[in-house]
Amino acid sequence: MPRKLAAGNWKMNGLRSSLVEIQKLAERHSDTSVDVLICPPATLIEACRGLLFDIGGQDCHTAQSGAHTGDISAEMLSDAGATYVLTGHSERRTDHGETNATVAAKSQAAYDAGLTAVICIGETLAEREDGTTLDVIDQQLAQSVPDTATADNTVIAYEPVWAIGTGKVPSSDQIAEVHSHIRARMLDRFADGADMRLLYGGSVKGSNAAEIFSIANVDGALVGGASLKADDFSAIINALE
Ligand code: PEP
Repeated sequence: MPRKLAAGNWKMNGLRSSLVEIQKLAERHSDTSVDVLICPPATLIEACRGLLFDIGGQDCHTAQSGAHTGDISAEMLSDAGATYVLTGHSERRTDHGETNATVAAKSQAAYDAGLTAVICIGETLAEREDGTTLDVIDQQLAQSVPDTATADNTVIAYEPVWAIGTGKVPSSDQIAEVHSHIRARMLDRFADGADMRLLYGGSVKGSNAAEIFSIANVDGALVGGASLKADDFSAIINALE
């Protein structure tokens, strides 16, 4: 059974004063039986050292260093104390035109720096309505997940774009269908595909977490808005434990 993971994506939110939320969370879950990951803005990664949980970046460049003003490399994230990095979040794909090939290159850069990549995939509302969800998922998995992926260096996050930050959540059957499809693809492709963690993401909160975590092949969640406050994220961690 894959180890369960509750991952929080703070997006472009959080100042040093927000670290108190992680401190509160650490006090409440000091003996947690699940893995907890916080992905704060890069400016806060160093300050999170020693705060009990795994810390991740929200993006990395494909290169280790070089003339890329404003970018951050996987090696820099690792140097600051991160052990994970999100790659291919839909906001990166949309706002920065990241393609599946870019996401694969970023994920490989993460592996090369010793980080675990949380590779994000998911269909848009138009794709869901056209009935092409599983085709989109297949293409994203085939092209965004490097051949060098393992259960140790990779987590797959299924995040339907239409569910991110909207309060809309797919039905349990819809989540189950996609997660079992992803599991089958990972089993086809990787010897340790059974152990690769598959997260659901998109409007997860305390009130719907238990139902989502009861779905087969859901090994945890990638949480945006509800990860910013200790009380909200704590309810999700409790549902996963
Ligand atoms: C996300 O940003 O990955 C996400 C799932 O956001 P939210 O939980 O706010 O929908």
